[in-house]
Amino acid sequence: MSAGIPDDALVQVRDLRKYYPQADGFLDRLVGESASVRAVDGVDFAIERGETLAVVGESGCGKSTLGRTVLNLEDVTGGEIEFDGDEIAGLSDREMRPYRRRMQMIFQDPLASLNPRQSVGSILTAPMEVHGIGDDDDDRLERARDLLERVGLERGHVDRYPHQFSGGQQQRVAIARALTVEPEFLVADEPTSALDVSVQAQILNLLSELQAEFDIALLFITHDLSVVRQVADRVAVMYLGEIVETAPTERLFAEPAHPYSAALLSAVPRIDPETRTDRTLLTGTVPSPIDPPTGCRFHTRCPAVIPPDDWRGDQPAFRAALAFRNRLLDGEVDPDAAAARLGTDDVDAIATYLVEQSLPAEIDALPESAAETVSEAARLAATGADDEATALVADAFVSPCETQRPRRVAAADGVAAGDVDLAHGGDAGWAACHRNDPEGPGSPVADD
Ligand code: SF4
Repeated sequence: MSAGIPDDALVQVRDLRKYYPQADGFLDRLVGESASVRAVDGVDFAIERGETLAVVGESGCGKSTLGRTVLNLEDVTGGEIEFDGDEIAGLSDREMRPYRRRMQMIFQDPLASLNPRQSVGSILTAPMEVHGIGDDDDDRLERARDLLERVGLERGHVDRYPHQFSGGQQQRVAIARALTVEPEFLVADEPTSALDVSVQAQILNLLSELQAEFDIALLFITHDLSVVRQVADRVAVMYLGEIVETAPTERLFAEPAHPYSAALLSAVPRIDPETRTDRTLLTGTVPSPIDPPTGCRFHTRCPAVIPPDDWRGDQPAFRAALAFRNRLLDGEVDPDAAAARLGTDDVDAIATYLVEQSLPAEIDALPESAAETVSEAARLAATGADDEATALVADAFVSPCETQRPRRVAAADGVAAGDVDLAHGGDAGWAACHRNDPEGPGSPVADD
């Protein structure tokens, strides 16, 4: 085991990749070669026994694919998955058999994951039978009753069917089923997001209790940072297939090092007014995982995106100019709609309207040359010269965040993280943002 990773790290993932080929898709025909959805793209983490690592990110960031891939339920495109010292990436179903019992999954929708035609007794005893647990049928049924009691249901519920339970109770049954084979590693994929808020906390408490009781390593996948604090020891924040920050939970909530983590946290309701921060609304659409942005993948939406050295204005002005550029490049600037809305063909009027609608700042806030570029691009767009307009802004507003890939840097002391920290993160964790890198562009933060 590498120095620095705790000896009891049960799961270690290095440079894990999962791509889905898009055969015969539109892009195929366009570029003449197979494009891939890069659902998971170079992920590293480690989980100790008895520890909970939460993976957090918006819908479509690849976190659910990550959970299935770590369990080898998906073919791995590249990278390593070490479970209790053994490499399991790429093992066949037969080779995985000894490990299946030791790793289980809990899904978002408990009813969909439970066979409606089987009684709860059958649902719970079937995995035991497959894995040779229990002396006989009576013993297995007794174990099932014990487990139901342990997850807060009644022993007599073995005779019931899934539809006879509430959503929260169904999730308790699903948790009991996962525990029947005494797993060491559990992946819980949004286990509470289909439940009423009132029962979410109960299920989270149950998971935490069981995990501590059975010393289970838990990978907890969620889009909802507000539930993370209750369950997680550490958090990995995921964006477009990559982990952008790993941190102990308390540090992440107190002091997020990555602008994406900060934006997600700003949306979490806080009871304490002292810790309440203004909500950061992320602008722009989430880019496609088929063709992710160059450099830092978050640069198209990042509120802290770094201006180039020769930028004469402030950072918010650059952020606004970049948003205008991205809207133009994404085809969101629509002169026809503007003309229809204004009821005129006047190019100047349309160009002015396009700037008002697509530049999230007053044009006077931009340095003079940038304002001229924006106005000229809007004018070109208004005359139908789209290619010239996009070429103009594409060259004019280029952030180092777009051209340089950020390193993963330890959040505590600004030292580049080594291999060890990439997997576990250590006491402080790391973040992949130029803002945290003393040798990166744009540091320190305050200089713009
Ligand atoms: S590298 Fe640049 S774009 Fe990426 S998170 Fe940091 S400041 Fe934002």
